[in-house]
Amino acid sequence: MRYIVNKSCIGCGACAYVCPVIFKMTEKGQAEAEPMDVPIEALKAADYAMENCPACAIVPAD
Ligand code: SF4
Repeated sequence: MRYIVNKSCIGCGACAYVCPVIFKMTEKGQAEAEPMDVPIEALKAADYAMENCPACAIVPAD
């Protein structure tokens, strides 16, 4: 399971707070997802981040 962050991101930082293993904030103030399979221990947090992104900017990459 991988995710990507699209250009709808408004840079609220919620995903990076909820699941820092996968989501990082960039210097441009937007989030990006690590290009790796989500570790099992982070699956719930990553899914929660996707479901609660206020801009619906997180989408599965698979
Ligand atoms: S939760 Fe959504 S809008 Fe907020 S930083 Fe993450 S991807 Fe961007």
